[in-house]
Amino acid sequence: MHETKIPFGERDGTLFRAYEVENGLRCGCVCPGCQQPLNAANNGEKVVPHFRHAKSNDCFDGFREGVRRAAVALIAQHKHLMLPALIETVRVATQDSRLLEEKVELQPVATTADRVERFVDLDGMRGHAVLHQSDRQLIIRIKLSSRMEHERYRLLKGLEHSSMEIDLNHLTLEQINDPASFEHAVLHDPANRNWIRSIRGERLAAIAQQKLQSLAVELNARSQLEQAERVAAEKARQIELDKEKAELQLSLEAHRARQRQIATAQPATEQDNTVQGRAELIAETMLKALQAWGGRAVECTACHLLSPPESQFCLYCDASASTVNPVTLSPDIPLTIHKRMRCSAKPTMSMKSVPRLLLRPDLKASAGVLITPALQKDATQ
Ligand SMILES: [Zn+2]
Ligand SMILES: [Zn+2]
Repeated sequence: MHETKIPFGERDGTLFRAYEVENGLRCGCVCPGCQQPLNAANNGEKVVPHFRHAKSNDCFDGFREGVRRAAVALIAQHKHLMLPALIETVRVATQDSRLLEEKVELQPVATTADRVERFVDLDGMRGHAVLHQSDRQLIIRIKLSSRMEHERYRLLKGLEHSSMEIDLNHLTLEQINDPASFEHAVLHDPANRNWIRSIRGERLAAIAQQKLQSLAVELNARSQLEQAERVAAEKARQIELDKEKAELQLSLEAHRARQRQIATAQPATEQDNTVQGRAELIAETMLKALQAWGGRAVECTACHLLSPPESQFCLYCDASASTVNPVTLSPDIPLTIHKRMRCSAKPTMSMKSVPRLLLRPDLKASAGVLITPALQKDATQ
C-alpha cells in the first residue's frame, strides 16, 4: 500500500530515494509529510528500496508529499513538459432539431517554460507548479489519489489561466525508484495527463461554435424558405382544387338541368324500374355503345347503364354515389348479351341503388337528344 512504503526521504531540504542513503535509521531522513524520522529499507535483494516511519504514526502524506515534490522538482529543473491532448465535440442545433457537430482537437505537444514557480497559492488553492511563458501561465496539479476533485476543478476553471493535471496515482514503487521511468511519467507521458481548462481549446471551440452557428442560421433560413414555398404550393393546390370542385359543381348543375329537360321527352316507364326492365336497358345501352359509340362508353357505378364515352356524369340517374368508369365493349356482345344479362347481378344492383331512373335512354342508334354533337358525328361516320 502506498501510505506505508514511502519512496522519498528528506534530508536538509533535499529528497533522496532509499537506495541513495545508508540503511535503517542511519539514513538521517525525515518523512516529507510529517517530518518524523524514517527508516530506510534498501538491504534485502527482494525488497524494493523504500522508507518507513521509524515509529508508527497516523501520517498518510509521506508517499504523496514526496512523490509530488519530486515531480515538481523535475518540472522546475527541465522547464519542459508534454501537454495533454484535447478532443471535444462542439454541437449546435438547428430549428428543425438537426445537430450540427464539429470536432475540436489538440494533439499532445511539448512546451517549454521561461520559468517555473513551485507550490503557488491561487485564491486559497495550491497550484503544484505554475509554468510561465511570456505573459501566459499554465497551472499544474499532480494527482495522487483516485478521487475526482470536482470542487478543485471548478475553482481552477474559474481562473483566467489554463490548467492541467498529471495523474501519478498509479505509479508503482519500482517506477518511482527508477529515475528514467519517473521522469517519463512526470514530463513526457501523454496518456496520464489531461486538461482542466485549456484556453487554446476554448478559443478553438468558440471558433467552431461560431462557424456552426452561422451554418445553422443559413440552414434555418433555407428551411424557412422551403417551408414558405411548401405552404404557398399547398395553398395554390387548394385553390386549384376548390376551383375544380366549383367547376364540377357547375357542370353537375347544368347536367341536372339537361336531364330534367330530356326527362320530359323521355320519362322512365314503370317497366324500366323493374329488374327485368333494367336488365333490358343495360343490354340496350351496351348494344348502342357498340353501334353508335365505337365500342367505348362509361358505365355508371349506381345504375350500371352506359353513357357516351366522354360523359362526365351518368345520363340517366342522379344517384349521389354515382361515378362513371370507362369501359370497352367486345364486338361479340350481341351474340351473348341475353345470356350475360341472365347471370349478371347488375340489374338487381341497379334497382337497389337507383329505384327510379330520371329518364330512359334513347335507344335509337340514330341521333337522339341524348347524343352529344361530337358523338353524333361519330355515330354517322
Ligand atoms: Zn509522515
Ligand atoms: Zn346512373
